[in-house]
Amino acid sequence: MRFRFTPEEEAFREEIRAFLREELPAGWAESGGGGVFGEAAEDRYQFLRDFQRKLSQRGWLTLGWPKEHGGMAAGHMMQVIYSEEMAYNRAPTQVGVGPDRVGPTIILAGTKEQKARHLPGIAGAETVWCQGFSEPGSGSDLASLQTRAEADGDFFVVNGQKIWTSIAHKADWCVLLVRTDPDAPKHKGISYLLVDMTLPGIEVRPLVDLTDRHTFNEVFFDNVRVPRDCLVGELNQGWYIAAATLDFERSGINRVVAGIRIFEELAAYCRQRANGERPADRAGVGEKLAELALEFQIGRLMAYRVASMQARGQVPNAEASLSKVFGSELQQRLADAALNILGLPAQLTAVSAGAPLGGRLHEYYLSTAGLTIAAGTSEIQRNIIAGRGLGLPRG
Ligand SMILES: Cc1cc2nc3c(=O)[nH]c(=O)nc-3n(C[C@H](O)[C@H](O)[C@H](O)COP(=O)(O)OP(=O)(O)OC[C@H]3O[C@@H](n4cnc5c(N)ncnc54)[C@H](O)[C@@H]3O)c2cc1C
Repeated sequence: MRFRFTPEEEAFREEIRAFLREELPAGWAESGGGGVFGEAAEDRYQFLRDFQRKLSQRGWLTLGWPKEHGGMAAGHMMQVIYSEEMAYNRAPTQVGVGPDRVGPTIILAGTKEQKARHLPGIAGAETVWCQGFSEPGSGSDLASLQTRAEADGDFFVVNGQKIWTSIAHKADWCVLLVRTDPDAPKHKGISYLLVDMTLPGIEVRPLVDLTDRHTFNEVFFDNVRVPRDCLVGELNQGWYIAAATLDFERSGINRVVAGIRIFEELAAYCRQRANGERPADRAGVGEKLAELALEFQIGRLMAYRVASMQARGQVPNAEASLSKVFGSELQQRLADAALNILGLPAQLTAVSAGAPLGGRLHEYYLSTAGLTIAAGTSEIQRNIIAGRGLGLPRG
Protein backbone atom coordinates (compact mmCIF):
# COMPACT_ATOMS: atom_id res chain seq x y z
CA MET A 1 0.00 0.00 0.00
CA ARG A 2 1.35 3.41 -1.01
CA PHE A 3 -0.27 5.96 1.20
CA ARG A 4 0.91 9.38 0.17
CA PHE A 5 0.27 11.99 -2.48
CA THR A 6 2.66 12.39 -5.40
CA PRO A 7 4.93 15.49 -5.60
CA GLU A 8 2.72 16.75 -8.44
CA GLU A 9 -0.38 16.39 -6.25
CA GLU A 10 1.32 18.12 -3.31
CA ALA A 11 2.40 20.97 -5.61
CA PHE A 12 -1.19 21.35 -6.78
CA ARG A 13 -2.35 21.54 -3.16
CA GLU A 14 0.15 24.33 -2.52
CA GLU A 15 -1.01 26.17 -5.65
CA ILE A 16 -4.62 26.08 -4.43
CA ARG A 17 -3.63 27.31 -0.98
CA ALA A 18 -1.65 30.20 -2.44
CA PHE A 19 -4.58 31.12 -4.70
CA LEU A 20 -7.01 31.10 -1.79
CA ARG A 21 -4.70 33.21 0.39
CA GLU A 22 -4.61 35.74 -2.42
CA GLU A 23 -8.25 35.71 -3.53
CA LEU A 24 -10.41 35.11 -0.46
CA PRO A 25 -11.14 38.23 1.60
CA ALA A 26 -9.18 38.43 4.86
CA GLY A 27 -10.92 36.40 7.56
CA TRP A 28 -13.26 34.68 5.10
CA ALA A 29 -12.76 31.16 6.45
CA GLU A 30 -12.70 32.33 10.08
CA SER A 31 -16.02 34.11 9.62
CA GLY A 32 -17.63 30.92 8.32
CA GLY A 33 -17.52 31.38 4.55
CA GLY A 34 -20.90 30.88 2.97
CA GLY A 35 -22.33 28.31 5.42
CA VAL A 36 -23.28 24.75 4.52
CA PHE A 37 -25.74 25.69 1.77
CA GLY A 38 -24.84 29.35 1.55
CA GLU A 39 -24.64 29.84 -2.18
CA ALA A 40 -27.89 31.76 -2.41
CA ALA A 41 -27.37 34.19 0.46
CA GLU A 42 -28.00 37.56 -1.19
CA ASP A 43 -25.12 39.41 0.42
CA ARG A 44 -22.65 36.79 -0.82
CA TYR A 45 -24.10 36.03 -4.24
CA GLN A 46 -22.19 38.53 -6.35
CA PHE A 47 -18.96 37.62 -4.62
CA LEU A 48 -19.63 33.95 -5.35
CA ARG A 49 -20.24 34.63 -9.05
CA ASP A 50 -17.04 36.68 -9.33
CA PHE A 51 -15.05 34.08 -7.44
CA GLN A 52 -16.42 31.38 -9.71
CA ARG A 53 -15.08 33.28 -12.72
CA LYS A 54 -11.63 33.31 -11.14
CA LEU A 55 -11.82 29.55 -10.65
CA SER A 56 -12.89 29.27 -14.27
CA GLN A 57 -9.86 31.28 -15.45
CA ARG A 58 -7.61 28.78 -13.66
CA GLY A 59 -9.49 25.89 -15.26
CA TRP A 60 -10.45 24.55 -11.83
CA LEU A 61 -14.18 24.78 -12.38
CA THR A 62 -13.81 22.09 -15.02
CA LEU A 63 -10.88 20.23 -13.53
CA GLY A 64 -12.20 16.78 -14.44
CA TRP A 65 -13.57 17.63 -17.91
CA PRO A 66 -11.71 16.29 -20.96
CA LYS A 67 -9.28 18.74 -22.54
CA GLU A 68 -11.15 18.92 -25.85
CA HIS A 69 -14.08 20.47 -23.97
CA GLY A 70 -11.99 23.04 -22.14
CA GLY A 71 -11.23 20.94 -19.06
CA MET A 72 -7.96 19.89 -17.44
CA ALA A 73 -8.57 16.12 -17.57
CA ALA A 74 -7.37 15.91 -13.96
CA GLY A 75 -7.54 12.52 -12.28
CA HIS A 76 -9.75 11.73 -9.31
CA MET A 77 -7.04 12.30 -6.70
CA MET A 78 -6.36 15.79 -8.07
CA GLN A 79 -10.08 16.49 -7.85
CA VAL A 80 -10.11 15.24 -4.27
CA ILE A 81 -7.22 17.54 -3.34
CA TYR A 82 -9.08 20.44 -4.91
CA SER A 83 -12.32 19.62 -3.04
CA GLU A 84 -10.39 19.13 0.19
CA GLU A 85 -8.58 22.48 0.06
CA MET A 86 -11.66 24.39 -1.05
CA ALA A 87 -13.79 22.87 1.72
CA TYR A 88 -11.18 23.38 4.44
CA ASN A 89 -10.86 27.05 3.49
CA ARG A 90 -14.63 27.36 3.09
CA ALA A 91 -14.09 28.65 -0.42
CA PRO A 92 -17.15 28.75 -2.68
CA THR A 93 -16.70 26.17 -5.44
CA GLN A 94 -19.57 26.65 -7.85
CA VAL A 95 -23.01 28.20 -8.10
CA GLY A 96 -25.62 25.65 -9.16
CA VAL A 97 -24.93 22.29 -10.77
CA GLY A 98 -23.37 23.32 -14.12
CA PRO A 99 -19.72 22.34 -13.78
CA ASP A 100 -20.03 19.09 -11.81
CA ARG A 101 -23.28 17.63 -13.16
CA VAL A 102 -24.68 19.28 -16.28
CA GLY A 103 -21.39 19.76 -18.14
CA PRO A 104 -20.32 16.10 -17.71
CA THR A 105 -23.80 14.97 -18.81
CA ILE A 106 -23.69 17.08 -21.98
CA ILE A 107 -20.14 15.88 -22.69
CA LEU A 108 -21.27 12.26 -22.38
CA ALA A 109 -24.64 12.38 -24.10
CA GLY A 110 -25.21 15.80 -25.69
CA THR A 111 -25.31 16.62 -29.40
CA LYS A 112 -22.58 18.62 -31.12
CA GLU A 113 -24.87 21.66 -31.06
CA GLN A 114 -25.66 21.24 -27.36
CA LYS A 115 -21.95 21.02 -26.57
CA ALA A 116 -21.19 24.14 -28.60
CA ARG A 117 -24.10 26.05 -27.11
CA HIS A 118 -23.77 25.16 -23.42
CA LEU A 119 -20.28 24.01 -22.47
CA PRO A 120 -18.49 27.37 -22.91
CA GLY A 121 -21.05 29.13 -20.68
CA ILE A 122 -20.72 26.51 -17.96
CA ALA A 123 -16.91 26.38 -18.12
CA GLY A 124 -16.73 30.17 -18.21
CA ALA A 125 -19.02 30.55 -15.16
CA GLU A 126 -21.45 32.58 -17.27
CA THR A 127 -24.55 30.42 -16.89
CA VAL A 128 -26.15 29.11 -13.70
CA TRP A 129 -27.92 25.74 -13.82
CA CYS A 130 -30.38 24.12 -11.46
CA GLN A 131 -31.52 20.52 -11.21
CA GLY A 132 -35.24 19.82 -11.60
CA PHE A 133 -35.47 16.20 -10.53
CA SER A 134 -37.44 15.91 -7.24
CA GLU A 135 -41.22 16.32 -7.14
CA PRO A 136 -43.67 16.51 -4.24
CA GLY A 137 -44.42 12.78 -4.62
CA SER A 138 -41.05 11.63 -5.99
CA GLY A 139 -37.80 12.01 -4.12
CA SER A 140 -36.14 8.77 -3.08
CA ASP A 141 -38.30 6.95 -5.62
CA LEU A 142 -37.35 9.46 -8.31
CA ALA A 143 -38.32 7.18 -11.18
CA SER A 144 -41.99 7.64 -10.20
CA LEU A 145 -41.84 11.30 -11.31
CA GLN A 146 -44.99 12.70 -12.93
CA THR A 147 -43.99 15.90 -14.74
CA ARG A 148 -45.13 15.23 -18.31
CA ALA A 149 -43.60 16.24 -21.64
CA GLU A 150 -45.72 15.60 -24.72
CA ALA A 151 -44.30 15.89 -28.21
CA ASP A 152 -45.93 18.57 -30.37
CA GLY A 153 -44.12 19.15 -33.67
CA ASP A 154 -40.71 20.65 -32.95
CA PHE A 155 -41.52 21.06 -29.26
CA PHE A 156 -42.20 19.21 -26.04
CA VAL A 157 -45.05 20.65 -24.00
CA VAL A 158 -44.15 20.35 -20.32
CA ASN A 159 -46.64 20.31 -17.45
CA GLY A 160 -46.00 19.52 -13.81
CA GLN A 161 -44.17 20.57 -10.67
CA LYS A 162 -40.67 20.20 -9.24
CA ILE A 163 -39.66 20.88 -5.63
CA TRP A 164 -36.53 21.51 -3.54
CA THR A 165 -34.95 22.96 -6.68
CA SER A 166 -31.86 24.64 -5.26
CA ILE A 167 -30.98 28.04 -6.77
CA ALA A 168 -33.81 27.89 -9.38
CA HIS A 169 -34.56 31.55 -8.67
CA LYS A 170 -31.09 32.49 -9.95
CA ALA A 171 -30.74 29.87 -12.65
CA ASP A 172 -30.58 30.55 -16.38
CA TRP A 173 -31.13 26.90 -17.26
CA CYS A 174 -32.55 23.78 -15.67
CA VAL A 175 -31.84 20.10 -16.29
CA LEU A 176 -35.26 18.56 -16.14
CA LEU A 177 -36.36 14.94 -15.87
CA VAL A 178 -39.79 14.48 -17.47
CA ARG A 179 -42.08 11.58 -18.24
CA THR A 180 -42.35 11.10 -21.99
CA ASP A 181 -43.89 7.61 -22.04
CA PRO A 182 -46.48 7.11 -19.30
CA ASP A 183 -47.15 3.52 -20.43
CA ALA A 184 -43.55 2.27 -20.22
CA PRO A 185 -42.05 0.76 -17.02
CA LYS A 186 -41.21 3.76 -14.83
CA HIS A 187 -37.43 3.93 -15.44
CA LYS A 188 -37.93 3.56 -19.19
CA GLY A 189 -40.36 6.42 -19.85
CA ILE A 190 -38.24 9.34 -18.62
CA SER A 191 -36.37 11.89 -20.74
CA TYR A 192 -33.70 14.46 -19.93
CA LEU A 193 -34.28 18.05 -21.12
CA LEU A 194 -32.27 21.26 -21.02
CA VAL A 195 -34.78 23.97 -20.22
CA ASP A 196 -34.32 27.71 -20.57
CA MET A 197 -35.70 29.17 -17.33
CA THR A 198 -37.01 32.27 -19.12
CA LEU A 199 -39.54 30.28 -21.19
CA PRO A 200 -43.19 31.36 -20.77
CA GLY A 201 -45.16 29.14 -18.38
CA ILE A 202 -42.36 28.58 -15.82
CA GLU A 203 -43.06 29.90 -12.34
CA VAL A 204 -40.50 29.76 -9.52
CA ARG A 205 -41.81 30.07 -5.97
CA PRO A 206 -39.44 30.40 -3.00
CA LEU A 207 -39.20 27.88 -0.16
CA VAL A 208 -37.40 29.34 2.86
CA ASP A 209 -35.48 26.67 4.77
CA LEU A 210 -35.12 26.18 8.52
CA THR A 211 -32.04 28.42 8.64
CA ASP A 212 -34.25 31.21 7.26
CA ARG A 213 -32.48 31.18 3.90
CA HIS A 214 -33.94 31.07 0.45
CA THR A 215 -32.05 28.42 -1.50
CA PHE A 216 -34.88 25.98 -2.33
CA ASN A 217 -37.78 26.59 -4.69
CA GLU A 218 -40.85 25.03 -6.14
CA VAL A 219 -40.91 25.23 -9.93
CA PHE A 220 -44.20 24.98 -11.83
CA PHE A 221 -44.49 24.17 -15.54
CA ASP A 222 -47.69 25.20 -17.29
CA ASN A 223 -47.71 24.26 -21.00
CA VAL A 224 -44.05 25.20 -21.36
CA ARG A 225 -42.91 24.74 -24.95
CA VAL A 226 -39.38 23.34 -24.93
CA PRO A 227 -37.69 22.96 -28.34
CA ARG A 228 -37.09 19.33 -29.27
CA ASP A 229 -33.39 19.97 -29.76
CA CYS A 230 -33.15 20.43 -25.99
CA LEU A 231 -33.53 16.67 -25.49
CA VAL A 232 -30.28 15.10 -24.28
CA GLY A 233 -29.64 11.60 -25.61
CA GLU A 234 -32.50 9.46 -26.84
CA LEU A 235 -36.15 9.82 -25.96
CA ASN A 236 -37.09 7.79 -22.85
CA GLN A 237 -33.43 7.22 -21.90
CA GLY A 238 -33.24 10.11 -19.42
CA TRP A 239 -32.96 7.93 -16.34
CA TYR A 240 -29.81 6.28 -17.63
CA ILE A 241 -28.36 9.58 -18.81
CA ALA A 242 -28.83 11.11 -15.35
CA ALA A 243 -27.17 8.06 -13.77
CA ALA A 244 -24.24 7.98 -16.21
CA THR A 245 -22.53 11.04 -14.74
CA LEU A 246 -22.02 9.32 -11.40
CA ASP A 247 -18.47 8.53 -12.38
CA PHE A 248 -17.43 12.10 -11.69
CA GLU A 249 -15.73 12.66 -8.35
CA ARG A 250 -18.05 11.61 -5.52
CA SER A 251 -15.76 10.76 -2.64
CA GLY A 252 -17.59 13.11 -0.26
CA ILE A 253 -14.28 14.53 1.01
CA ASN A 254 -15.75 18.04 1.09
CA ARG A 255 -18.38 16.96 3.64
CA VAL A 256 -15.76 15.47 5.94
CA VAL A 257 -13.30 18.34 5.60
CA ALA A 258 -15.97 21.00 6.18
CA GLY A 259 -16.68 19.22 9.47
CA ILE A 260 -12.98 18.95 10.34
CA ARG A 261 -12.65 22.73 10.16
CA ILE A 262 -15.51 23.22 12.62
CA PHE A 263 -14.20 20.40 14.80
CA GLU A 264 -10.80 22.11 15.03
CA GLU A 265 -12.47 25.40 15.98
CA LEU A 266 -14.53 23.63 18.64
CA ALA A 267 -11.44 21.91 20.10
CA ALA A 268 -9.56 25.26 20.13
CA TYR A 269 -12.48 26.93 21.91
CA CYS A 270 -12.59 24.15 24.51
CA ARG A 271 -8.89 24.64 25.25
CA GLN A 272 -9.38 28.32 26.06
CA ARG A 273 -10.52 29.84 29.34
CA ALA A 274 -13.60 32.06 29.00
CA ASN A 275 -15.49 33.68 31.90
CA GLY A 276 -13.27 31.84 34.40
CA GLU A 277 -14.05 28.44 32.93
CA ARG A 278 -12.33 26.16 30.43
CA PRO A 279 -14.76 23.78 28.67
CA ALA A 280 -12.05 21.11 28.34
CA ASP A 281 -11.88 20.80 32.14
CA ARG A 282 -15.43 19.53 32.32
CA ALA A 283 -15.99 15.78 32.68
CA GLY A 284 -16.52 13.98 29.39
CA VAL A 285 -15.50 16.84 27.08
CA GLY A 286 -12.03 15.47 26.28
CA GLU A 287 -13.48 12.02 25.69
CA LYS A 288 -16.14 13.35 23.31
CA LEU A 289 -13.61 15.41 21.33
CA ALA A 290 -11.24 12.44 21.11
CA GLU A 291 -14.08 10.29 19.79
CA LEU A 292 -14.86 12.89 17.11
CA ALA A 293 -11.17 13.19 16.19
CA LEU A 294 -11.16 9.45 15.59
CA GLU A 295 -14.31 9.59 13.50
CA PHE A 296 -12.99 12.40 11.32
CA GLN A 297 -9.87 10.35 10.57
CA ILE A 298 -12.11 7.46 9.54
CA GLY A 299 -14.32 9.73 7.44
CA ARG A 300 -11.32 11.12 5.58
CA LEU A 301 -10.00 7.63 4.85
CA MET A 302 -13.40 6.47 3.62
CA ALA A 303 -13.51 9.38 1.17
CA TYR A 304 -9.95 8.67 -0.01
CA ARG A 305 -10.94 5.06 -0.57
CA VAL A 306 -13.78 6.07 -2.90
CA ALA A 307 -11.47 8.40 -4.82
CA SER A 308 -8.72 5.80 -5.13
CA MET A 309 -11.23 3.25 -6.43
CA GLN A 310 -12.40 5.76 -9.03
CA ALA A 311 -8.78 6.55 -9.91
CA ARG A 312 -8.29 2.84 -10.65
CA GLY A 313 -11.36 2.80 -12.91
CA GLN A 314 -13.59 0.96 -10.42
CA VAL A 315 -17.15 2.11 -9.74
CA PRO A 316 -17.73 2.62 -6.02
CA ASN A 317 -21.29 1.74 -5.09
CA ALA A 318 -21.57 0.66 -1.48
CA GLU A 319 -18.26 2.44 -0.76
CA ALA A 320 -19.65 5.82 -1.92
CA SER A 321 -22.79 5.21 0.16
CA LEU A 322 -20.69 4.34 3.23
CA SER A 323 -18.75 7.58 2.81
CA LYS A 324 -21.95 9.58 2.31
CA VAL A 325 -23.76 8.17 5.36
CA PHE A 326 -20.71 8.42 7.59
CA GLY A 327 -19.65 11.92 6.49
CA SER A 328 -23.11 13.47 6.67
CA GLU A 329 -24.10 11.84 9.97
CA LEU A 330 -20.70 12.72 11.43
CA GLN A 331 -21.40 16.41 10.80
CA GLN A 332 -24.69 16.00 12.65
CA ARG A 333 -22.90 14.27 15.55
CA LEU A 334 -20.38 17.13 15.63
CA ALA A 335 -23.12 19.78 15.67
CA ASP A 336 -24.90 17.89 18.43
CA ALA A 337 -21.70 17.55 20.48
CA ALA A 338 -20.88 21.25 20.04
CA LEU A 339 -24.29 22.30 21.33
CA ASN A 340 -24.06 19.93 24.29
CA ILE A 341 -20.54 20.97 25.24
CA LEU A 342 -21.09 24.71 24.90
CA GLY A 343 -24.63 24.76 26.26
CA LEU A 344 -26.91 27.75 25.80
CA PRO A 345 -24.18 30.14 24.50
CA ALA A 346 -23.96 27.90 21.41
CA GLN A 347 -27.32 29.32 20.37
CA LEU A 348 -26.00 32.89 20.26
CA THR A 349 -25.62 34.41 16.79
CA ALA A 350 -22.84 36.60 15.43
CA VAL A 351 -24.53 39.77 16.69
CA SER A 352 -23.91 38.69 20.32
CA ALA A 353 -20.48 39.65 21.66
CA GLY A 354 -18.52 36.60 22.81
CA ALA A 355 -20.68 34.06 20.98
CA PRO A 356 -18.65 30.83 20.66
CA LEU A 357 -17.25 30.09 17.20
CA GLY A 358 -18.39 33.47 15.90
CA GLY A 359 -22.06 32.64 16.57
CA ARG A 360 -22.25 30.15 13.73
CA LEU A 361 -23.12 27.00 15.66
CA HIS A 362 -26.88 27.24 15.75
CA GLU A 363 -27.02 27.69 11.97
CA TYR A 364 -24.55 24.87 11.49
CA TYR A 365 -26.72 22.62 13.65
CA LEU A 366 -29.85 23.43 11.65
CA SER A 367 -28.22 23.21 8.24
CA THR A 368 -26.66 19.80 8.89
CA ALA A 369 -30.21 18.37 8.98
CA GLY A 370 -30.35 18.52 5.18
CA LEU A 371 -27.07 16.64 4.72
CA THR A 372 -28.68 13.27 5.36
CA ILE A 373 -31.47 14.05 2.86
CA ALA A 374 -29.74 15.74 -0.10
CA ALA A 375 -28.20 13.46 -2.76
CA GLY A 376 -29.92 10.36 -1.38
CA THR A 377 -31.16 9.98 2.19
CA SER A 378 -29.29 7.96 4.81
CA GLU A 379 -31.99 5.27 4.65
CA ILE A 380 -31.55 4.90 0.89
CA GLN A 381 -27.75 4.80 1.29
CA ARG A 382 -28.15 2.06 3.92
CA ASN A 383 -30.33 0.11 1.49
CA ILE A 384 -27.50 0.34 -1.06
CA ILE A 385 -24.92 -0.78 1.50
CA ALA A 386 -27.12 -3.71 2.54
CA GLY A 387 -28.01 -4.73 -1.02
CA ARG A 388 -24.98 -4.02 -3.20
CA GLY A 389 -22.37 -4.06 -0.44
CA LEU A 390 -23.50 -7.00 1.67
CA GLY A 391 -25.59 -8.90 -0.87
CA LEU A 392 -28.65 -8.87 1.38
CA PRO A 393 -32.12 -9.22 -0.13
CA ARG A 394 -34.36 -6.12 -0.45
CA GLY A 395 -36.48 -5.58 2.65
C1 LIG B 1 -30.11 20.55 0.81
C2 LIG B 1 -30.94 19.89 -0.23
C3 LIG B 1 -30.80 20.29 -1.55
C4 LIG B 1 -31.61 19.68 -2.54
N1 LIG B 1 -31.50 20.13 -3.82
C5 LIG B 1 -32.25 19.56 -4.80
C6 LIG B 1 -32.18 20.04 -6.14
O1 LIG B 1 -31.47 21.00 -6.43
N2 LIG B 1 -32.93 19.45 -7.08
C7 LIG B 1 -33.75 18.39 -6.80
O2 LIG B 1 -34.35 17.85 -7.71
N3 LIG B 1 -33.87 17.93 -5.52
C8 LIG B 1 -33.14 18.50 -4.52
N4 LIG B 1 -33.27 18.07 -3.22
C9 LIG B 1 -34.27 17.06 -2.91
C10 LIG B 1 -33.69 15.71 -2.54
O3 LIG B 1 -33.16 15.07 -3.67
C11 LIG B 1 -34.85 14.88 -1.91
O4 LIG B 1 -35.24 15.56 -0.74
C12 LIG B 1 -34.38 13.49 -1.55
O5 LIG B 1 -34.18 12.74 -2.71
C13 LIG B 1 -35.43 12.77 -0.67
O6 LIG B 1 -36.68 12.80 -1.28
P1 LIG B 1 -37.98 13.33 -0.48
O7 LIG B 1 -37.63 14.62 0.17
O8 LIG B 1 -39.11 13.29 -1.42
O9 LIG B 1 -38.20 12.27 0.69
P2 LIG B 1 -38.91 10.85 0.55
O10 LIG B 1 -38.32 10.10 -0.58
O11 LIG B 1 -40.38 11.05 0.57
O12 LIG B 1 -38.46 10.17 1.90
C14 LIG B 1 -39.08 10.44 3.17
C15 LIG B 1 -38.43 9.53 4.20
O13 LIG B 1 -38.69 8.14 3.84
C16 LIG B 1 -37.48 7.43 3.73
N5 LIG B 1 -37.56 6.46 2.65
C17 LIG B 1 -38.03 6.66 1.39
N6 LIG B 1 -37.91 5.53 0.66
C18 LIG B 1 -37.35 4.60 1.46
C19 LIG B 1 -36.96 3.24 1.27
N7 LIG B 1 -37.13 2.61 0.11
N8 LIG B 1 -36.38 2.58 2.33
C20 LIG B 1 -36.19 3.22 3.53
N9 LIG B 1 -36.56 4.51 3.75
C21 LIG B 1 -37.12 5.20 2.74
C22 LIG B 1 -36.43 8.49 3.40
O14 LIG B 1 -35.12 8.07 3.75
C23 LIG B 1 -36.91 9.67 4.23
O15 LIG B 1 -36.46 9.55 5.56
C24 LIG B 1 -32.52 18.66 -2.20
C25 LIG B 1 -32.65 18.27 -0.87
C26 LIG B 1 -31.88 18.90 0.11
C27 LIG B 1 -32.07 18.48 1.54
